[in-house]
Amino acid sequence: MAGVSRVFQVGEQALVVDAKNRRYLITLAEEGEFHTHAGVTPHSAMLGQPEGITVRSNTGARYLVLRPTLADFVLSMPRGAQVIYPKDLGQLLVMADVFPGARVLEAGVGSGALSLALLRAGAAVTGYELRTDFANVARKNVSRFLGPGQPYTVVARDVYDGIDEPDLDRVILDLPEPWRVVKHAESALPPGGIFAAYLPTIGQVAELTGALDHSAFGLATTVEVLVRSWHVAGQSVRPDHRMVAHTGFLTSARLLGGPGDAPPPSPEEAPEEAPEEAPGP
Ligand code: SAH
Repeated sequence: MAGVSRVFQVGEQALVVDAKNRRYLITLAEEGEFHTHAGVTPHSAMLGQPEGITVRSNTGARYLVLRPTLADFVLSMPRGAQVIYPKDLGQLLVMADVFPGARVLEAGVGSGALSLALLRAGAAVTGYELRTDFANVARKNVSRFLGPGQPYTVVARDVYDGIDEPDLDRVILDLPEPWRVVKHAESALPPGGIFAAYLPTIGQVAELTGALDHSAFGLATTVEVLVRSWHVAGQSVRPDHRMVAHTGFLTSARLLGGPGDAPPPSPEEAPEEAPEEAPGP
């Protein structure tokens, strides 16, 4: 049975895709007009219509109109800081095991791409962000895509100074020196809680892993996500020529032991020859 179709209404976001697969994000308005070099299309051609329709500009250019997905929105929303790309957002949600109702401390918040992914997955998010201008961009992006009333609070503060939120389940970081947050996360999380960080360079990952090794966190894992899209058209079936080769590394770790427990073994105590390695995540 077909799903229920909701027609486009004033105030909604629409993703307009041209014949060359270029994407534009617009907010539909009663008297609005969508302008490109290929002419003008009135929003009224989209209002009251279902997703997936094709509209034409006054010069005959054709555009496909859909509601933006989270990935569409993140790639075309206004940015203060650089965003975490969709391929990494998906993996971060799994590595940090984000669940509906999870209480997450996120820092820094930047443009709010990660905030959107966390909220979409059902988490309640408190964000620490140094820059009030970025905090405002993030708040606007969140309410524009998810609507008002989200469980989302952004506080202007430096996470290196400490974490004051009670009852956290996860601490997720996208900032230059996450190793400076390891001790704070250790006090803020319960045993089993997850610490995760996104980092652009492997030197930073080594520094973070060193700090995690000397903490109550264990099971540290680092991955990178390589997504290679394919060109699939008739007989021509092959990988696309270009791909995004590098964005960042994702590291996660779990807080071990309750109060009074022995600290987890340091890596030096681990056996020299590890038994047959299990396949990674
Ligand atoms: N993950 C975000 C982008 C974050 S960019 C997104 O997907 O949109 C990194 C942000 O961290 C910047 O906005 C910067 O101002 C902030 N930041 C850097 N150091 C910080 C600190 N010590 N405490 C809080 N925020 C910090």
